[in-house]
Amino acid sequence: MKIGGFQKFSLIDYPGKICAIIFTQGCNYRCGYCHNPELVEPKLFSPLIPEEEIFSFLEKRKGKLEAVEITGGEPTLQPDLFEVLRKIKAMGYLTKLDSNGSNPEVVQKAVGLNLVDYLAMDIKAPLGKYRSVINSNIDLNKITRSIKLIMNSGLDYEFRTTVVKSQLKKDDILKIGEMIRGAKLYILQRFTPAKTLDPRFLKEETYSEEEFENFKESLKGYITKCIIR
Ligand code: SF4
Repeated sequence: MKIGGFQKFSLIDYPGKICAIIFTQGCNYRCGYCHNPELVEPKLFSPLIPEEEIFSFLEKRKGKLEAVEITGGEPTLQPDLFEVLRKIKAMGYLTKLDSNGSNPEVVQKAVGLNLVDYLAMDIKAPLGKYRSVINSNIDLNKITRSIKLIMNSGLDYEFRTTVVKSQLKKDDILKIGEMIRGAKLYILQRFTPAKTLDPRFLKEETYSEEEFENFKESLKGYITKCIIR
């Protein structure tokens, strides 16, 4: 697996669990606001972290850490994703898989093989705006298929959207609400212009607290629980 980053400890990424995070290198989207350009843009790639290093760390932390999240980049692009998930599960850890929704077949297979305990998917925009937000010409049917399979997986899951003010209006947020109608958890993420794939996004902004609260209120009919972070 191409591992471009590793975080040894997090209390906020796997709900209710202490987890470590593996960041895979490479992504098929080019979201301008992406805050992990070094995992997306090949000329910014750093040397890979050997898998053995991660597994030896996880071996030592058994009983202290409870879960491992695989995020990116886009983890479903890694040909040995199942193998790595299988090894992590065999060590007794819970697993969380983050995806951008472009490879429903891979996520479906991981679920079918019981390799995942928690799923997270980024919903970038309503379908009509999707390609312009991700700067990539993906098959939009894959997004709807990913949403359906995650909601029908029987697993815990979350959908998330990073909100850049110039990209998404209230109407767009409501359209996303419609796309994931009935979902258990939806997270609206404030965009922070600290480090971005497209430097022009450093001048972009997000909405005010009041505006976010208003979005959350408007989403009540669609989603069981909505969080702003
Ligand atoms: S924010 Fe977009 S470009 Fe960055 S890793 Fe996620 S899907 Fe890829």
